[in-house]
Amino acid sequence: MMGKAVLSDINAAGEQKLQQTVYTDALTGLGNRNRFHDKVCQLAAERASDPAPFTIGITNLDGFKPINDLFGAAAGDEILCQVAHRLKACAPDGATVTRYEGDSFAFILPLVFEQSGAQKVGRMIRDVLSAPYDLGGRNVRLSASFGFSVHPFAGEGYAELVKNAETALYRSKRRGRGQVTVYSEEIAEEMRRATQLEQALRNAIIADSVDTYFQPIVDLASETVVGFEALARWNDPELGFVSPAVFIPLAEERGFIDALSESLLRKAAEAALGWPRDLFLSFNLSSAQLTDTSTTRTILSILGRIGFDPHRLELEITETAMMTSAETAHKIITSLRAAGVGISLDDFGAGQSSLGRLREFSFDKVKIDRAFVSCIATDKASEHIVRAIVAMCAGLELNVVAEGIENATEAEILKSLGCGMGQGYFYGRPMTAADTLRYLQDAGISQSVYPTLRIRT
Ligand code: C2E
Ligand code: CA
Ligand code: CA
Repeated sequence: MMGKAVLSDINAAGEQKLQQTVYTDALTGLGNRNRFHDKVCQLAAERASDPAPFTIGITNLDGFKPINDLFGAAAGDEILCQVAHRLKACAPDGATVTRYEGDSFAFILPLVFEQSGAQKVGRMIRDVLSAPYDLGGRNVRLSASFGFSVHPFAGEGYAELVKNAETALYRSKRRGRGQVTVYSEEIAEEMRRATQLEQALRNAIIADSVDTYFQPIVDLASETVVGFEALARWNDPELGFVSPAVFIPLAEERGFIDALSESLLRKAAEAALGWPRDLFLSFNLSSAQLTDTSTTRTILSILGRIGFDPHRLELEITETAMMTSAETAHKIITSLRAAGVGISLDDFGAGQSSLGRLREFSFDKVKIDRAFVSCIATDKASEHIVRAIVAMCAGLELNVVAEGIENATEAEILKSLGCGMGQGYFYGRPMTAADTLRYLQDAGISQSVYPTLRIRT
């Protein structure tokens, strides 16, 4: 018969095992998210009566998924174990390192009291993690992004501290790879402003007061208008003019870009009904819309309701937007093209351009980024790049539009390089729907008189 003492020993052993599975990450042997949670709560409680701050941080590996996909899950696991090992080895005194989730790790730094200290530790760990990883003879390089928050400034409790560290991490990711961000008063202020902006934008969408302006796109050789690009404009009674470069990403981030974009497309297509029928409407599609397969149906049904011919619509998309979920983007683009909608690759040459993408995806048009056009008259390299893009597009039978033409010199150079179309302040600024009609009239173009559409220069 078992003695009482033995039984309690067994219970204790079982309890310990249970504790271990609840608090330990099976793959890396590090503490897991439960451990992180409990430790942060414990430290926050201790420090409540002690004014000394402490810091928490979250790191996420950059580009881990492609490596996992390329080399297999076992290789991915191996890297995570090596990362865990390095983190444990380099963590400062008294620190706790845990596996947060997937390829994210979280740490508690009880002896880091302020932002610059957190920055320093972040950079040190980043350097340690950026050394090559050995995968059975093959070396793999990875970087990691970091977000930190300092207690009690960035929050007194677990939830707030973690949320703010995640916000900081998100900002690091947005700035590229291997960045370190510590949640600061400026970030807090920006977050407050963004929330205020979000509220105002939601109201503007409900009130249907976000407008579309139109900027002419011209055939460079004949200097005739061939279409217009719709550009969103929002003038808030309290906040004043807010740039689409600010509110479009905000609407994407906060998840209401669909509602906004639908209302913009409706307004743009309604306005375009008043133009000569051979003018196209170019409309910007946001990255979030390329991750949602219902986009095709939504767009076509808006056009159907208004009675706008899909063959007159072109959608501008960027390469970054397509990369978020390439497969879905591919489906959307294919189905839209099948319905007659044209697809333009926007901002070509800016950011992460890949020539391969021009072959993988089917486009109708490429828009050369303003960055090349704006220095084409002064910088030979830009001129060579534009020349190469134009030649390549000719070979691929793609139309080319140069963006941001501001003067006659730029227009002449682009023409001489064989660039087909252009857009920019030189030919016309974005204008209201009513001004667009006047512009067409002034250029001697009206609904009944086409197709020769000469514009004033
Ligand atoms: P984008 O698609 O590259 O649009 C061209 C931007 O360049 C516009 O800025 C336009 O006003 C500006 N621009 C045109 N010609 C010139 C020029 O000669 N010189 C200079 N300096 N600038 C010129 P805008 O209207 O501020 O729009 C900024 C960005 O916001 C757009 O860049 C686009 O990415 C986004 N956006 C605007 N409207 C919409 C929309 O309805 N939906 C979506 N998803 N994005 C939009
Ligand atoms: Ca555009
Ligand atoms: Ca552009």
